[in-house]
Order: sequence, then C-alpha cells, then structure tokens
Amino acid sequence: TSAQSTTSPAAAPPLPYQDRAQPVEARVADLLARMTLTEKIGQLTQINVTRLMGQNEWDRGPLSERWLDVVLGEHQVGSLLSGGGSAPVPNTPEAWARMTNDLQRYTLTHSRLKIPLIYGVDAVHGHNNVKGAPLFPHNIGLAATFDVNLTRDINALTARALRATGISWNFAPVADVGRDPRWGRFYETFGEDPTLTAQLVVASVQGLQGEKLGPATVAATLKHFIGYSVPQNGRDRQPAQISRESLQRVHLPPFQAGMKAGAATVMINSGALNGEPAHSSRGLLTELLREELKFPGLAVSDWEDIARLQTVHKTASTYQDAVRQALGAGIDMSMVPNDAPAFTSAVKTLVENGSLPLARVDEAVRRVLALKFELGLFEQPYVDPAAAGSAVTAGQDLALRAARQSMTLLKNDSELLPLKGRRSVVVVGRRAVDPRSQLGGWSIGWQGLPENEDIPAVTVLDGMKQVLPKGTRLTYSEDLSAALPANTDAIVAVVGEAPGAEGEADNPGLTLPQEDVALLRRALGSGRPVVAVLLAGRPLLLPDDVQRGLRALVMAYLPGSEGGRAVADVLYGNTSPSGRLPFTWPKSVSALPMIEGATPGQNAQALYPFGTGLSYTRFQYAGLSVQGAGARQTAQVRVTNSGQVAGGHTVLAFARPASGGTAGGERLLVGFTRVTLKPGETRTVALPLDLTSLRVAAPGQAVQSAELSVGELRTALPTP
Ligand code: BGC
Repeated sequence: TSAQSTTSPAAAPPLPYQDRAQPVEARVADLLARMTLTEKIGQLTQINVTRLMGQNEWDRGPLSERWLDVVLGEHQVGSLLSGGGSAPVPNTPEAWARMTNDLQRYTLTHSRLKIPLIYGVDAVHGHNNVKGAPLFPHNIGLAATFDVNLTRDINALTARALRATGISWNFAPVADVGRDPRWGRFYETFGEDPTLTAQLVVASVQGLQGEKLGPATVAATLKHFIGYSVPQNGRDRQPAQISRESLQRVHLPPFQAGMKAGAATVMINSGALNGEPAHSSRGLLTELLREELKFPGLAVSDWEDIARLQTVHKTASTYQDAVRQALGAGIDMSMVPNDAPAFTSAVKTLVENGSLPLARVDEAVRRVLALKFELGLFEQPYVDPAAAGSAVTAGQDLALRAARQSMTLLKNDSELLPLKGRRSVVVVGRRAVDPRSQLGGWSIGWQGLPENEDIPAVTVLDGMKQVLPKGTRLTYSEDLSAALPANTDAIVAVVGEAPGAEGEADNPGLTLPQEDVALLRRALGSGRPVVAVLLAGRPLLLPDDVQRGLRALVMAYLPGSEGGRAVADVLYGNTSPSGRLPFTWPKSVSALPMIEGATPGQNAQALYPFGTGLSYTRFQYAGLSVQGAGARQTAQVRVTNSGQVAGGHTVLAFARPASGGTAGGERLLVGFTRVTLKPGETRTVALPLDLTSLRVAAPGQAVQSAELSVGELRTALPTP
C-alpha cells in the first residue's frame, strides 16, 4: 500500500494551511493569501439557520437549495447561528447533529478552499436548544452558590453537549454586571458584584474552552461589550451612561478577567453608551478593546445590530454607511445581517471604493480563520449523530446540585422551616406545577423549545412528592379556592414572575404578578403559617402586609430542570440552604439603580443586603488573619458549624479602604470560599484575596490603608 500511496493524488502534500502540524498563524496567513474578496467577506457573515430554509422545512425533504446556493454558495457565508435555539429541525440531539453535518457537508463541497462553517448558539444555562438537556439554574442563581468549581463543571458539560451536536461557539457567558434588577436580562448576569462576576466568568470560560480550544471544546463569548446592563431607564437596549471610573471599577473587570482566561470572542452591546452606539464606537471597539485591553479574539455584532445603526441609532444614513461605521470601528463579524447579500455587497463596495481598508477586512478574516483552526474544524468538521444523545442528556445530577446550592433562605420566623414535623402541608400556586416558571427565559418559546413541547422538569410539586416524609400529607390547590384540610399546618405558596426573554422580561416596578399577590393574601388570610417560594430572576417587592405576614421566604431564582426537587429538599430539611444573595434586594424601586454594592447609605435602602442567606445551622468565625503581601494576599479564618445539622456555607471577605480612593468607604468583596461542615466540625479556610477592586477604587491615588472583614471579625489589610 505504501507504493500505491506515493502515486495516489490523495498523498499529494497538503497545502500549508491544511497541514495541522503548522502553527495556526502560518495556516491563517497561507489561507488568507489564497482567498478572493468575496470569500473573505463571507467569513465575516453569520446567518440565522431558519433564514436558509424556513422553520420545519428541513423535515420536508432536501435542504432548500435556492437559499443554500445563494448564502453558502454564491456568498460563501462562513458562519451560522440558531438565535434563541430556533432551528428548522426537530429538537432532538440527533436531528441537530445531522443538520449541522448536512450544512457542513454542503459548505465544504461548495467552498473552493474547503473552509468549514462555525455554528453558534446561546446555551446560557445548559444546551437549552435541544430536548432532553438538563437545564441549570440561570446565572443569577448560580452566582448565589459562589461556587467556582461548580460553574466550571456546568460549562464543561455544556461544551460537550454543544460540540456533540455540531455547535462550536457558545454566546456565553454574560459578563455584564447586574446593577439594575428592573432590566429584563438581570437574571442572565452573575449579579451586582464585579469580583464575583469576574471569577464566575473565568470559570465559565475555562469550562467551555477547556485548557485549550480544540475539537472537544467550544468558543466562549464575553457579552455584551460594554455597558449593556445598566440602561438608564431600566429597559432592555436603552442608552446607558457610565463614568470612566465606574467602567473601570465595576463593568470592565469581568471582561478583563475573561480575556485573561483566554475567551475567544466578544459580542458587542446593542445599545448606546454615553451617547454613542457601541457598534460604531472606535473608542470602545478599537481604542479600549484592542489597544488598551489587547484583546486578540473575534468581535461579533449582536443580532442585526449593524443595520440598527441606520434604523434605530441613526448614526448612519444608509445601510452601507452603517456597515462602514461598524467594521471601521472594529466589528469583525456581522450577526444576522437582515439580508446577507446586502451585507456582502456593501462590504465589497466599501473596499472597492476605498472607504474601508482591505487591511481591516483581512484582520477580521484572520480572526475568524484562526478560531476555526483552533477549534479543529478543518480536521473534524463532522460529529457522530449516534453519540449526540448521551452527551446532551448527561448532567442531571449536576443540575440538581447546583439548584440545591443556590437556594437562598431570606426569612424563617420562629423556624417554620424545615417542614419536617408538619403533618399536613398544602402547596398552592400554578407555578408549583409549571416547568416554565422555574426554567425562565432561554428555555421555551421564542428563545428555546417550542411552546407545545412536553418539557421534562421536576416541578416543585413533583419534588415535594418525592421527598414527602412517611406519615405526612401533601395536598395541592392551584388557587386555594377549595377549603383547606382541617389539620393543615403549613402552606407552601409557589409564586414568581412570568418567564421571559430580553425586553419582554423588563420589570420596571419589580412587581410580583397581581394574581400571585392575591394568592399570597388568600394563603395568609387562612391564618396558617405560610412559606413563599419565589421563582424569579430578580428581587421582587412584595406588598408590606404580605412581606410581614410570611413566616418564611425562599428565593429559588430560576433553578432549572431539577429545581423543584432542590426546593423540596430545602423545605423538608434534607439540605440546609446555603445560597447567599448575589445582589442587594432593595426596599423600593426608588433606591434604583443600585449604584454601589454596599455603601452605608445603600444598606439603609436594602431589605436584604448583598450576601444575605440563612441556614438551618450556625457558622461561627474565629482567628482572622492575612498572609502574604502586595497583590498576593490570602485571608485565613476558622469556621465552625456550631449547629445541629450539616450544611454548606460561603465565607465572604470584604475590604473597606480607610483612606485614599474615591469610593467613599465602600465595602468591596475581595474574596469568598465555600465549605461544607458536619455539626461540630471546625475547619480553617483560606480565602485568596482579589484586590483588583481595591486598586481601581482609587484612580490616580493609592489606597493608603484598608480593613478586611469576615462576618464580625476585622483586621488590617496590608495595602495592596
Ligand atoms: C441577544 C444576544 C444573543 C443573540 C443571539 C440577541 O438578541 O442580545 O445576547 O446572543 O441575540 O441569539
């Protein structure tokens, strides 16, 4: 056979870019030099798959050849996405794998240089695009666990599920800091604190990308660069105003940390920052992103956002000018230009008439090609549909663990919880039996699986039935219209916000739906002790009488497909609650936007401050000390579980600059670590301190001295 292979054309030495032994940079340079302008522009274009063939068209026979010919043939489009999971195939892992294989095959046979597609989706709490994938708590709940390893594991699992269905790019994690809970997408953030957000962003990137990008990992996206999360009026995609100081201290650190961890791509903020749309801002996309932050990766626009420079922001008078502004400012890839041919011909004209330097196009193409090489797409463009199912469905146990750890107990008057000794419990509220309420956005509907699907999820009622102690009774009543069983000794009311995506989830008053308020009032009117379980992606303001009347309040966030079981475990005391609020729960909307996480002034406005979270046991601290110097300092503290049951607990370390700095004595989170202790157990825990926030707290002048606090303990923190 060796004789044969020397004469067979297959044995011809591959072109340099096809040689996997070459460094990526050399492969990119070689390939770029062979490309026509049309082929280059195609690499900068990302099309929504449903545009190719229309919803469900896939099932009706071969691909819609006309669209494929135009988009993948004539225009040589190099990237696809299924925004919000919408895909023209049944939502099974196998169907997705076959679809991505077909698209890849079609592309490779039509591509002169055999450049594979890169396909992206939003898998923001697991592979929420296909049926059977475990859905994890949304980021806001994950943040309440303060668990970096858990976050990494979840993202690694998501990466495997994605890659098994032919997806190599995830539009996650959200690195925006959630400072305004009215904003619809607050639940997609890791909450209000830059240090916590940064660490969980890093863990997400590490999980998705592994140690190094390759054929078993996916590219991560830090989104949305930058200033998306603080729209001035609290509504999605509305303008933001952020000072240079707040940008440096609050909003940039998670992006910087994610970049340092090697995040491959960033997605740009749809809105305007300080009067300028991010998509046309050279200041943000070139001076800040490239020159200052030195980000080497790919910058993708958000959905149709280049066109919006003309239609919404009105900085451009024609579509062609919008394209010039965006690419000129530093956007590399256009996500869903409404009309691919219009985009590609605009770029072509701009290059040909000299309004867009070819060097700018080449730079963008280089980044796309480098990513495709790094992901191993040239070598392994296809996946095995038979293996997709098992990869996608793995991880139920992790989803349950995450949901359990996220449960945050905010109120427990005269220890109503756990319910162990209660013989007859009544569960009320339709959200107790509605998977949608616990899954939240990016699950079902226009950003997820079709509405009519039967969604596998353990609801709160399911979970309570699973763990019901022997000899006790559980009754369900949707609206409490039926008389209560005579011996009812507790009511569990499951309430929350309507699940929603993007702007539809905006909640300007942080209100609980009227019917849920009415239900709580009916429950309280019965005179029985009431515990409310809140399924919500943000703090919601309960009317005073309700807030006062509730004996217990469990913040369950949007806990995902195993969420109901996690709620039940906490209610019945199988798990001691250990979540801590990753945001400040305001007393009223007049306190918004919450500017600084923990200033004394703000604490007066807080119903539940950042970090609130009760437990069924007690944790005591002793012996706080700090080791190390400069940027490398570690706090140590002894933690004792002095209560009766085992429990998890997150230790939080705050620093307060005593002099120097402009933060006005703001308390800054600088370290955290999670422990699980048996009753009576003591452990010395180490908290590596991240003093970045302390350093940026003082632009132009060093923090002279600072104090570290863990619980009630305080010690001097050697100046960083
Ligand atoms: C969202 C992005 C998302 C994109 C693709 C946009 O509407 O703002 O976060 O990644 O759609 O689905």
